[in-house]
Amino acid sequence: MKADIVTIFPDFFRGPLDYGITRRAREMGLVQIEIHDLRQFTHDRHRTVDDRPFGGGEGMVLKPEPIFECLETLQLATRAERLAGTSRETVILLSAQGERFTQKVASELARLGRIVLICGRYEGVDERVADFLADRELSIGDYVLSGGELGAAVIMEAVTRLLPGAVGNEASTRQESFTAHQTGDELTEGVEVTEKAGPDSTCGSNGLLDYPHYTRPAEFRGMSVPEVLINGNHQDIRRWRREQALKKTLRKRPDLIEEAKLNAEDREALVRVKQTELSS
Ligand code: SAH
Repeated sequence: MKADIVTIFPDFFRGPLDYGITRRAREMGLVQIEIHDLRQFTHDRHRTVDDRPFGGGEGMVLKPEPIFECLETLQLATRAERLAGTSRETVILLSAQGERFTQKVASELARLGRIVLICGRYEGVDERVADFLADRELSIGDYVLSGGELGAAVIMEAVTRLLPGAVGNEASTRQESFTAHQTGDELTEGVEVTEKAGPDSTCGSNGLLDYPHYTRPAEFRGMSVPEVLINGNHQDIRRWRREQALKKTLRKRPDLIEEAKLNAEDREALVRVKQTELSS
């Protein structure tokens, strides 16, 4: 995958994209990230990227010309081709007003060959960028940041770890919180997966939150690891984990239960979990 980040603060990305899985994926060539300094696409002595808003009001707005010019150097498919889905490319404007970035959007993006991320600043970006240049606007959450850079880093990290080969064990990215089953399976198509995650395996959180994880020591300052993980058999552990995932989701994110793909065993477990929650 190729990714292009358009920003007025290119140095911002030293760090966020240089660690862990993202770093390894870059080194392995799974993703090629290029940072583009918007100021290089200006033509005045002051390298002006912003201007006052038409109609008056607070703050400054990022000008359209440098952003359009920058994208023109990237030799992308036309916007019409991109929107028709024939090009495997997408241009994203980071925006607090955009569609919410979720794990589902991350898996959609991970299937593309190229993503371009435009980072706004100040009061925002001249609306013509959203209307005529970007294919979609994405928000990383319902709060206002000072710029799109953190959002771009968040999107890059979430997408990169889904690229086949980025995470040592493919199965592990599929059993995480929010991961709906199909997305994981489609994504790893053609990739050797040692542990096939059928609907009944522990893999694939099917839209639930992940189950709790523990490591050694089994006993730490009087806090102990659940007995079933130490002495239980595989079946018991699998059942316990699924129940815990249901319990956690019910407590912390009940909204996810509606959308989750639950099998018969899950539904039975959910009834049990709800009963114990009510009586506790
Ligand atoms: N006036 C705008 C906020 C501008 S913040 C408004 O009220 O909607 C400046 C820039 O930060 C935006 O152009 C966008 O690129 C980025 N930004 C702010 N909040 C964001 C969020 N939640 N998700 C993604 N990008 C965000």
